[in-house]
Amino acid sequence: MRRVYLDYNATTPLAPEVVQAMLPFLTEEYGNASSIHSVGQRARAAVEQARAQVAALIGAREKEIVFTSGGTEADNLAVRGVVEAAERPRKPESGKHVVTSTIEHHAVLNTCQALEAEGVAVTYVPVNSAGLIDPEEVRRALTPDTVLISIMHANNELGTVQAIAEIARIARGRKIPFHTDAVQAVGKLPVNVREWGVDLLSLSAHKICGPKGVGALWVRRGMRLKPLFFGGHHERDRRPGTENVPGIVGLGAAAELAGARRAEEAVRVKSLRDELESRILARVPHATVNGDRQQRTPNTSNISFEFVEGEALVIALDLKGIACSTGAACSAGAVEPSHVLTAIGLSPEGAHGSLRFSLGRQTTREDIDYVAETLPAVVEHLRELSPLYKKSVAAASK
Ligand SMILES: *Cc1c(COP(=O)(O)O)cnc(C)c1O
Repeated sequence: MRRVYLDYNATTPLAPEVVQAMLPFLTEEYGNASSIHSVGQRARAAVEQARAQVAALIGAREKEIVFTSGGTEADNLAVRGVVEAAERPRKPESGKHVVTSTIEHHAVLNTCQALEAEGVAVTYVPVNSAGLIDPEEVRRALTPDTVLISIMHANNELGTVQAIAEIARIARGRKIPFHTDAVQAVGKLPVNVREWGVDLLSLSAHKICGPKGVGALWVRRGMRLKPLFFGGHHERDRRPGTENVPGIVGLGAAAELAGARRAEEAVRVKSLRDELESRILARVPHATVNGDRQQRTPNTSNISFEFVEGEALVIALDLKGIACSTGAACSAGAVEPSHVLTAIGLSPEGAHGSLRFSLGRQTTREDIDYVAETLPAVVEHLRELSPLYKKSVAAASK
């Protein structure tokens, strides 16, 4: 049976070049990057090379890159680190305030919720039905006590892309630190922290054909940031703990590849995504695309299929060798409908009946042909089992 992986927004396969770069550091080059001897110094050199590779990908200075255990830790460090380091708000009796959005990844949302339990006020700026944030809404949400704005660049479920440079302008005008979760943007869209004018940016290796369990937070020079953990003086006192040398080397190699291939891959993947989408819409009735169809990452398509359960569809497609998802991987298995799909106004049923296809480096035209040919019958079969669907077909034919 053909195997087609269309779940790149959940995770990606390791690029062979990344495996090659990591291998020595999983075997003979086992040094601790803080050791003075030559084994240690070779590990240090590899970590610093990776830092340069990551910095180059996003237009940053090397010293501003903090390696973390992934996107989740980078988001936690950015949000909590800035809030905790912030000077007390202007009025001493009032609390600190954070502005974020309703469609953030749970790494940001749940950090904000934890801060709320500790007395921090949080405003969750809404999105429109296309999944886009109006920067003016961000401006209106600001108060004299706002100590952080955190708005993601590209959304993991819809692929929708926010006007980061515009929000950054608003943040700068008010001298409020601005963090963006760019985990789904890096490698898919041009990312340049200086052009955008943001202050902190999260990225993750395993979303760009690198290894799991490693990521980075870019922190603009001069930003006040309280660490999450306490220990040694690693990562300029921002993230203690012996460096994950093989992981960091893998992230560096993945970053370099992502930069070199981005423009070409974006065009290739977008054309495959658009073809898949239009073939599905042409063959499957009662199917609608979620999220803005222009302002989105080139690899993502989120489609609602009326009268079917997304989970049932994912399982039925898996039996045909096709891997895709409903909602986010982190909440797959949860009974709650996706917070992103309900935020754009879908009913719980609409949110439950949606699939996310996310393409990537190993996706081929043959993969797309196979999915486009296989999916309609799978949907039709599941719908035939649905009493709701039978009723609506009967009503339509009367
Ligand atoms: C995957 C993802 C994360 C979390 O990254 P991990 O490295 O898996 O912890 C954060 N934000 C977004 C938008 C993501 O897609």
